[in-house]
Amino acid sequence: MENNYTVLARKYRSQNFETLIGQDVLVKTLTTAINTGRIAHAYIFTGIRGTGKTSTARILAKALNCLSSDTATSKPCGVCENCRAIAAGQHIDVMEIDAASHTGVDNMREILDAALYRPTNARYKVYIIDEVHMLSTSAFNALLKTLEEPPAHVIFILATTEIRKVPVTILSRCQRFDLARVPVETLKKHFAWVAEQEKIELTDEANELLARAADGSVRDGLSLLDQAIAQTGGHVDETAVLDMLKRTDRGTVVNFMKTVLSGDVSVALGKLDEIYANGADLTMLLNDMMEWVHWATRMYPSLRLQDAVSSPYTADQRETIKKINETISLNTLSRIWQVMVAAVPELQASSNQKQCFDMLIVRLMHIADMPSIPEILKQNKNEIIPEKKTEQVIIEKPKYKTIDSAKALVEELQKSRELLLSSYVSSNLEIIEFGNNFIKYFDIQGDKNFQQKLILWLKDNTGQDWTIERVAEDPHQQTMSEHIKSEIVADPMVASAMDLFEDAEIVSVSK
Ligand SMILES: [Zn+2]
Repeated sequence: MENNYTVLARKYRSQNFETLIGQDVLVKTLTTAINTGRIAHAYIFTGIRGTGKTSTARILAKALNCLSSDTATSKPCGVCENCRAIAAGQHIDVMEIDAASHTGVDNMREILDAALYRPTNARYKVYIIDEVHMLSTSAFNALLKTLEEPPAHVIFILATTEIRKVPVTILSRCQRFDLARVPVETLKKHFAWVAEQEKIELTDEANELLARAADGSVRDGLSLLDQAIAQTGGHVDETAVLDMLKRTDRGTVVNFMKTVLSGDVSVALGKLDEIYANGADLTMLLNDMMEWVHWATRMYPSLRLQDAVSSPYTADQRETIKKINETISLNTLSRIWQVMVAAVPELQASSNQKQCFDMLIVRLMHIADMPSIPEILKQNKNEIIPEKKTEQVIIEKPKYKTIDSAKALVEELQKSRELLLSSYVSSNLEIIEFGNNFIKYFDIQGDKNFQQKLILWLKDNTGQDWTIERVAEDPHQQTMSEHIKSEIVADPMVASAMDLFEDAEIVSVSK
């Protein structure tokens, strides 16, 4: 890199309201106020770092003092003496004060005493106080005194990332603007434009990664782009950015979650070893896994949010998540989230992050395995939940099943993962008779394919031919799931749970 290299964030800093990125509301309000001559004596800008607080403060200072107009203008020219000096941070009447290094009261008094004198070259004396929440209490008091009776020619522009640390007495004398996190799409557009100006190659995937890593901050995103350019010599692609961010690509994260939620412990830990060996930052990985859980939850079919397209995943990855969602309950997702949230500080405090992460994976797999609350309720309270065995046990399977009741039929269907058939049997059939290779029933839904499938399954699994008789008249009996539901409602433990939660209702029963 050449010696006179200017960092991108400085080089492409917005110089006027039109090019301020992602702050449309603020721009509209401020320009209207300036155009109608309603200029406040004090402004406070708040928002996360890199959203344009200082840039906005400088643009506002230029707007107040631009020589291209007789009064303040929302379109500062950018080329007059005042505009140029302010942009460079060198105007004698525009003081930029970093509160972090001027916390003391003496410092503040000195600065404020000077406020009494009229500006030298500008219409207004402008004080830009950055990170104003860092001031000491006495310094705040000194500032408050000036804010209570500000000289007509003085304008204060305060900026802070932590508005809650600014005393209310100060806030009440300022016009407040909240600078929003810049949306990913806006950031991407901006970064693509910067790449074009710099004549560097930035792939769309790499841009997406940078924009998301920037987390709403233009400055952070441009710093990352700076770094990526320096590392790649100007060919910024996904691999380079992943490498730089010590990030694992989304495809890997999606597949890893799939393993964690459905596979066995040794495979999952092996996969983690691999990801770790590739240089992944484990804090970032946990972040990405949490992002996965968040989106899997939003994409959960029963929530009907249908905003999956705005997720960071490709269509294929979304398809994978959808499939996983079919095997996992919303409840489990929320418990996984809780464990992950708890793991964040744990991971940060740990002297051995990998160790910590291994244990986290085991815990997550355990959760995915555990029954949910309705499942526990369904279990008889005297029964102990059988622990799932993690080691492989070779069980000799009996060749054929014996099915002698409707209940046994449903259980065997579930065991052989015929979930559609089993739920069809329990929610649609009113069983009139269940005998030796013989079933007589009424079918509420009357799906013709069902009978065919059931006969085939029964023959395959019992080695016998079955006779199935479907009656045409509804005998108005309970289906199996209705029966189970009524049993559950009668259970004293469920009854007390229903009492406890006023609006509770039994929506579904799962085994
Ligand atoms: Zn100007």
